[in-house]
Amino acid sequence: MKKMIYTAALAFALFSCKSTAVKTSENETIVTNIDLVDVQDDKVMVSVNPGKIDKESIVFYIPKTVPGTYSTDNYGKFVENVKAYNYKGEELIVTSLDENSWQIADATNLDKITYWVNDSFDIAGEEGVFSPAGTNIAANENFMLNLHAFVGYFDGMTETPYQLTVKRPNSLVSGTSLKSSIVSKPEGDATIDEYSAARYFEITDNPIMYSTPNQVDFQLGDMKVILDVYSPNGVYTAEQIKPNMSKILEAQKSFLGDIDNTNMYAILLYLADMQKTDAKGFGALEHHTSTTVVLPETMPLQALNESMKDVVSHEFFHIITPLSVHSNEVHYFDYNNPKMSKHLWMYEGVTEYFANLFQVNQGLIEDAAFYERMAEKIASSKSFDDTMPFTVMSENILDEKYEKSYYNVYQKGALIGMALDIRLRELSNGESGILDLMKKLSAKYGKEKPFNDDELFDDIVELTYPEVRTFLTTYISGTTPIPYEDFFAKVGVEKKEQEVKSGYFLNGQVPFIDGDAETKELFIRKNIALNSFLEEMKLEGGDIIKSINGTAYTIDNAYALIMTSQAWKDGEELKMVIDRNGEEMTLTGTVKPATMMKTSYESLDLPDSDARKQLREAWLRG
Ligand SMILES: [Zn+2]
Repeated sequence: MKKMIYTAALAFALFSCKSTAVKTSENETIVTNIDLVDVQDDKVMVSVNPGKIDKESIVFYIPKTVPGTYSTDNYGKFVENVKAYNYKGEELIVTSLDENSWQIADATNLDKITYWVNDSFDIAGEEGVFSPAGTNIAANENFMLNLHAFVGYFDGMTETPYQLTVKRPNSLVSGTSLKSSIVSKPEGDATIDEYSAARYFEITDNPIMYSTPNQVDFQLGDMKVILDVYSPNGVYTAEQIKPNMSKILEAQKSFLGDIDNTNMYAILLYLADMQKTDAKGFGALEHHTSTTVVLPETMPLQALNESMKDVVSHEFFHIITPLSVHSNEVHYFDYNNPKMSKHLWMYEGVTEYFANLFQVNQGLIEDAAFYERMAEKIASSKSFDDTMPFTVMSENILDEKYEKSYYNVYQKGALIGMALDIRLRELSNGESGILDLMKKLSAKYGKEKPFNDDELFDDIVELTYPEVRTFLTTYISGTTPIPYEDFFAKVGVEKKEQEVKSGYFLNGQVPFIDGDAETKELFIRKNIALNSFLEEMKLEGGDIIKSINGTAYTIDNAYALIMTSQAWKDGEELKMVIDRNGEEMTLTGTVKPATMMKTSYESLDLPDSDARKQLREAWLRG
């Protein structure tokens, strides 16, 4: 998964514009139908026929969480009116056990269950579900079917094959990497599409987006790529986005080299309408052979291309981990009582590192731009507890105490990847780095063979060098912050401090303000360095901005605040009303150019014969 922001509340500002087996008869298939034609009250009906059940009662589940989101989302809350029928068409007793599970009595006579499913995109706040894992139901126009929210499973039957039929209006086409089992059948104004999945995991791993046709496909070597775009106001076509995507994926394949990967990849891009209650959690969620991406439709093409580059490359690299290299917790994923692995530093961190490294490796960005990205990650990682062991945070990520640290997997997680890469290059005289390690782990384990969480460090040491254990236990499972300068020094890169221009409320992509989704209040972020303007206005972390020059501000018009501030003129008088610890205060000052001290990293100018320069070349272009 990749979230683009600190909180969903501030999304708009950033572009400045996530048992025991029950015996069933052999060769049974769970037959599931979703009706996208008869949409009622913005809901669709789903029916699930589990085949013969040899048990007096059985529990039906909709997932509480799904792989890759690392959050508790309770998809059952979008489901209502669950009914069970016997073979005579009579209703059986259904007892709701909790938000995500229903017990069905007299299960030996169960024919099928039916229920209505609501979507998440048009609920303000989306019930806390990260949009790329969410759902959309817009009759005759668009359906974002993240299937885990539509199709459930019966206790003990997650390994049973599924057959999924979707009845859709003829005017809509599907974008998915899910296998079609037969040719679609027309039925008047509707068409029946039929898909098959080997087990419940495949249902959740293959989202389908139905929308009016806006799709292209292209071939990259042995891989077919499908790019499916939903642009509600017709702003973008798939054809416009294709050149950038093609270039990025080709560079990624070239970076990965001989690693075994998929021969099919679907990119499902949902562009959200910013004028409506619509998806606002921007970013993407990974799957083995596809990714769902949600971004604002208002983004200019260049910004959209830039975001797609960062987001899709991150998701595509998930093919290595966790999709190929993962632990038992991930492989035997428990949708309703999940256990988390200790190794988010690898699943998300190394993936995010690759999504940056390949760009410099393949010449898409300059060395300086790569250092700048790492410098930004160092700066933002410092707003989290740098002594919290990543392994501890990872296995407890669903706990309230740790969930706020999740964003740091893209910051410090990626930096762990970078530091380990430099260390591996150093130990191997430049010969091999972290990509080689991931290839070895992938060969040892792979898609169908999970590792034991507690044995990963031993495996890494065995596949690399004994000295690597110290790195792992000091900086990943230990409490010691990474001394980045020491690692950069090995590759002849040094730290520089300089004063640079800053926006008033945004420093590049990093906001100084954040919003509270519940109270809608905008506040100055805590534990980050503020720019000269905010300091001269005497603002402090945690201050709630009530109004500026008479205009009241909340999350709802934070974008207007950014735009208005960009038009401020030097010397203009400002009067800010804030709330500090419950006390209302008025701060006054004048507009002055905002600056801040920035840490950057630069390559030392070294002769080719210098070992540091050779190591740097191996690191960045090896
Ligand atoms: Zn990710």
